[in-house]
Amino acid sequence: MSENSASEAQQPKVTKSDDEWKRELSPAEYQVLRQAGTERPYTGEYWDTHTEGVYACRACGAELFTSREKFDSHCGWPSFFAPLAEGRVRYLRDESMGMVRVEVRCGTCDSHLGHLFEGEGYATPTDQRFCINSVSLSLRPADDGETSPQ
Ligand SMILES: [Zn+2]
Repeated sequence: MSENSASEAQQPKVTKSDDEWKRELSPAEYQVLRQAGTERPYTGEYWDTHTEGVYACRACGAELFTSREKFDSHCGWPSFFAPLAEGRVRYLRDESMGMVRVEVRCGTCDSHLGHLFEGEGYATPTDQRFCINSVSLSLRPADDGETSPQ
C-alpha cells in the first residue's frame, strides 16, 4: 500500500488562484475552505441533519461523505466515521493552536474541511470522527427531484 507514495504528493486536480476562490465563495465559505477557519459549533447547516444523501465539497463539488457514515456526535459539527471512499480526502498534520491534530482536506481541490479525531469511544465501526464544517459541504439529498419542481 505505502510502496508507491508518489500519489500522496500529487497536485490537486482543481487549482484556482486566491482571487478566483474569493470571487466564487461567500466570505464565510472562503474563511473556512481556503483559510482553514472553523465555524462556530451548533451554528452550521448540517450538524444535526439526518437527510439521506451525499455531501459534496462546497468549493469544487467532489463527493466526499454520505449520510450512511454520518453519526450524532453532539459536538456541534457534522461528524462522519469514514469518508465516501479513501482518496476522496487527504490528511495533513496540523500543529496550530498548540495541539497536534489531523487536518482533513478535499482530495480534489485541497480545500480545508475539518479535522479527524480517533479513539474517542464513539460506537461507530471505525472509532474515528471526521469533524467537518457545514460550510465546507453541500448536501445533495438522495430524493432530489421529488422536492424541487424543476
Ligand atoms: Zn473540493
